[in-house]
Amino acid sequence: MLLSELNKEIRFIKGVGEARARLFHKLNIYNLFDLLTFYPFRYEDRRNFTKIINLQKGIGQTVLAEVIGYDEFYSSRGRVLKILVSDNTAVLSLICYNRNFLKKILLKGMKVFLFSNKFEYKYRQFQTSEFDFEIFDEKGESNINLHTNRIVPVYHTTEKLSVKMIRKLIFQELEKLREQMDDPLPAYIRKKYKLKDFAVCHYKIHFPSDLKEIEIVRQRLAFDRFFFLELMLALNKHKTVLIEKKQNYIKENTVKGFVQTLPFELTNDQKQVIQEIFGDMKDKKMMNRLLMGDVGSGKTVVGLLASLLACENGYQVCLMAPTEILASQHYQTILQYLKGFSGVPVVLLTGKQKSKEKEEKLKAISNHSGQIIIGTHALIQEDVRFNNLGLVIIDEQHRFGVRQRALLHLKGDTPDVLVMTATPIPRTLALTVYGDLEISMIKEMPPGRKPAVTKWFSQTQMQKVYQLLEEQMRDKKQVYVVYPLVSESDKMDLKNAEGMFQTFKEKVFNDFRVGLIHGQMKKDLKDNTMDEFRQGKIDLLVATTVIEVGVDVANASVMVVEHAERFGLAQLHQLRGRIGRSDIQSYCILITSQRLTNEARMRMRAMVNFNDGFKLAEVDLELRGPGEMMGTRQTGLPDYRPADLIKDTKILQAARKEAFELIDRDPQMQGFPVLEKALKTEFHERLNLVQVG
Ligand code: ADP
Ligand code: MG
Repeated sequence: MLLSELNKEIRFIKGVGEARARLFHKLNIYNLFDLLTFYPFRYEDRRNFTKIINLQKGIGQTVLAEVIGYDEFYSSRGRVLKILVSDNTAVLSLICYNRNFLKKILLKGMKVFLFSNKFEYKYRQFQTSEFDFEIFDEKGESNINLHTNRIVPVYHTTEKLSVKMIRKLIFQELEKLREQMDDPLPAYIRKKYKLKDFAVCHYKIHFPSDLKEIEIVRQRLAFDRFFFLELMLALNKHKTVLIEKKQNYIKENTVKGFVQTLPFELTNDQKQVIQEIFGDMKDKKMMNRLLMGDVGSGKTVVGLLASLLACENGYQVCLMAPTEILASQHYQTILQYLKGFSGVPVVLLTGKQKSKEKEEKLKAISNHSGQIIIGTHALIQEDVRFNNLGLVIIDEQHRFGVRQRALLHLKGDTPDVLVMTATPIPRTLALTVYGDLEISMIKEMPPGRKPAVTKWFSQTQMQKVYQLLEEQMRDKKQVYVVYPLVSESDKMDLKNAEGMFQTFKEKVFNDFRVGLIHGQMKKDLKDNTMDEFRQGKIDLLVATTVIEVGVDVANASVMVVEHAERFGLAQLHQLRGRIGRSDIQSYCILITSQRLTNEARMRMRAMVNFNDGFKLAEVDLELRGPGEMMGTRQTGLPDYRPADLIKDTKILQAARKEAFELIDRDPQMQGFPVLEKALKTEFHERLNLVQVG
């Protein structure tokens, strides 16, 4: 039984160690299981050899050749090593910048596999400076050909961790586990759906021997992914149904009084969902409700009304947002809403507060002098002790997972849970993925909104864009310019945002007040910048996607998205949701390069043509259809790699059916010890919360 080994920390894996482990953490790889489920995002077929004489420019090709000598030349970067290899058709030069050590590895007379996407013919010679190699072992015994002479997996990685390194480690661990892994899926389910063996599938998804095989094993792993998810949901549901909650709701005066003070009338949809939520809260069963509503539809005030009901009846409320910016914005907004209401103390708790400040807040939380507690993930940390927590509100669900939801459950005995999301998921899908939640929807927007006009420009038309920005700022409006960040550690793009900030500030818009905000800034600085923007002290805010979700500044009239092709529809829609929040005319400007994929083109067109999030979600589904081999993060839907929520709905439904039936019959999973253990491996943190048994 080796499933338990999957919990082994990454730093203890042979060849990793502390320093490398930290790099793996950046990729969200903490243990062996994370490593093995770090699926390739594409494959390269490096099985067929090309003769050097036939090499072409710009395509990936593999060469098998012999090292015949060395040469060097001088470039602006100093002395450069050249390794010459030949396969009897021609000579190929391997240009090695700063890789002199290769001379000691690629010895004369050795045969090597060479793979590159960048072969070229230049200065009358075949050459490449970017290549993967592997030494060919004639005896064949230890000749595993990891990086060439096979279908090779390619992984997303960070700067300092090479794809080769990841490939090697995964290979090494898979080899060890290959023959000893138990299959966690009950045999009857495997048989029913003709699913291939667990260990084999894990091996093959990384190292397939044939391209057709990939899809078959992917489906099995997709089944697992969904099956475990649905098991969790089934267990959750099972638990909530059994337990009667302790909260008791009698009083409703504060709520009624508060509604009177609102500067607007609630929309009918808002009234409807408030009724549904109050109904749940007054029920004996714990609430587990998902509130869906497009950006700007007014979910916050709904959440606040639920909070006030809880406070008035003596319970604490905890409101969790995905980023610090959003948490502090909620805090500000709620203080603003509550101006006339003393007696509802609100506390903001974030991860980066100074320890003394934090201590005081923790005290306020534990002695109930704080009633509405707002924060980020910090709220689910262990040092937070609530005092009679009755309601948990989670904003923007897709940033959290089932796990966080479950962790929060621990904070109070039987809290009601309200999840708010702006991700427009088709209802059927929502039912399946958030299958333990009831669903409420706000479809209508508050009156008096002027929808944003969306325009699409290419990078060559920046002058036009700058002109529009200038006009708007002269008119005392504020603008955003957003740059993509693949991950927050992607230095290349960060430079971009920072670089453009300098350019705007010093050159293009030196008459205006230009600000910068991105995820790597200190919290204080971020908060400050956001406050200044909110107060109108910044005209132009250069940003990364940290401002994507929920940021609310009504005076902002332009959202420029640079490299818009790098964003998915859901993300673009979220960004556009930052403007068009009042009756002033606003503009969403998408800027792309001129060389675009068809799909990117369609995405831009969809953005120009549609303002409705649900419509865009449909387009997104269509576009994605058979598209990508493995799920992307572009939809804003949760990431269930290698499963794909859209492509794999049939698998999802089957997995859901089986999971719910199994828990119905055997909620403690007594008949399925391997499955239970596997669940603990994958969801070990989550499972305690569900308290099986
Ligand atoms: P979201 O659903 O994106 O979280 P918010 O709750 O941030 O939306 O609301 C967006 C804006 O609409 C806020 O400025 C809020 O005060 C305002 N708003 C909410 N409900 C109404 C309403 N019924 N009428 C007018 N404005 C409203
Ligand atoms: Mg919101």
